[in-house]
Amino acid sequence: MTNVIKGIKNERPFYYFEEISKIPRGSGNEKEIANYIVDFAKKHNLPAYIDEANNVLITKNATQGRENDLGVMLQAHTDMVCEKDLATKHDFSSEPIALIQEGNILRANGTTLGADDGFGVAIMLAILENDEISHPYIECLFTSSEEIGLVGAGKFDYTKIKAKQMINLDSAEENTVIIGCCGGVRTEMTLSCTREENTSDAYKITIGGLCGGHSGEDIDKGRLNAHILMGKVLMLIKEITDFKISYISGGDKDNAIPRECECIIVPNASFDDKIEEIKKIILNKVVAKEDENLTINIEKTDTSSTFSSKDTEKMLKLLSIPNAVLKYRDVAPILPSISRNLARIRTEESNIKIGFSSRSYTKEGLDFSTDELESLASKIDASYYHHERYPSWQDEADSPLVTKWQKAYNKATGKTTVPTLIHAGLECGLITSNVKGLSAISVGANVHDLHTPRETMEIDSMDRIYDTVCTFLSK
Ligand SMILES: [Zn+2]
Repeated sequence: MTNVIKGIKNERPFYYFEEISKIPRGSGNEKEIANYIVDFAKKHNLPAYIDEANNVLITKNATQGRENDLGVMLQAHTDMVCEKDLATKHDFSSEPIALIQEGNILRANGTTLGADDGFGVAIMLAILENDEISHPYIECLFTSSEEIGLVGAGKFDYTKIKAKQMINLDSAEENTVIIGCCGGVRTEMTLSCTREENTSDAYKITIGGLCGGHSGEDIDKGRLNAHILMGKVLMLIKEITDFKISYISGGDKDNAIPRECECIIVPNASFDDKIEEIKKIILNKVVAKEDENLTINIEKTDTSSTFSSKDTEKMLKLLSIPNAVLKYRDVAPILPSISRNLARIRTEESNIKIGFSSRSYTKEGLDFSTDELESLASKIDASYYHHERYPSWQDEADSPLVTKWQKAYNKATGKTTVPTLIHAGLECGLITSNVKGLSAISVGANVHDLHTPRETMEIDSMDRIYDTVCTFLSK
């Protein structure tokens, strides 16, 4: 029945994975996938609701004798991150994802696979279609634009939800059941600057080759942030001579640790004889093995203008703000409790724009980070606003839902799964805060290198999670 994926026990989830891989579904481009899901519902005589944000809710009545059992919501996001190799030509707005099976591994051809979160979408469609298992009342919520700040989940009308148990299918590790995640908030800061004419020698400093990574999952791995590192380069130069910044730029996505940063400065005096020494100090700052390809280049260039000395001082202050893990949890498991990522810097004609993202397991933790940013902004006369704030979520490790999932996983696979917390964000926080009394877990198949063209999924792992969902629903 399937074309590409072979040798599996449950064919239908993989059939749907192949089907949705044919539909371009980058964040913000979910109309077609939403329509596909609504058509699916019509074909199967299931009630479907679609909203303006292209979120879709499909419900399925309980099988006979299960009418009084607790309803279950399954949930996954329809959008995917669109990343490709430099050598790959691929138009994510019109072309399907080309799937390649290598034994038990499923990958794409030089692009992201979209197992995050096509995996969850495919499982939900196969479950809705399955008339063989006994199940309670089921709600399947397909949300849009998760990858760009949980946008769809933020717009859904939750009065439509009746279930009190939710299984989010957006985790990437089979043998854990996630019971909590961080909340997050983004902060945009604008530093207004004065331009001054320049005729002196300028220097261009380029930092590159860093590993970067996800600002939630990888924030405690000791990886360097290119902007913070640029701040350290500038402080070393400042010990030799004063200078003015002309340009600074780096980073791209708010949820990625920046890998590159570029800065142009005009010093009062030449520091040519110190360049090699500065480079050596900076290259010695590598802690994580993944950052061993760090490069730093300092070369002469031209620039017709700079920002004032005062503006430069302000920028140096900003680049020295505490970054990455700000505090660890003081109870087990020891994980980062508050973190911040100086994600993006852009220079415009008369201002510098800076983007931060903060994460924490508590409201107070998020407030701690935003308070610190506000106080920095007032010290350097920058304007700011916070946006896309979403709440953290934490359930009990021994809740009935967790225990039931653990039992179902064990029955379906013979293996065990343990409750855990993650530092990244999930839609569970936003959804549970909108539905009173809703208990949630997040589970998934083994997916590796998500958000990169190297993304892969273990096929038998998806098979096992499908079996577990069936077992969970079957009683
Ligand atoms: Zn995801």
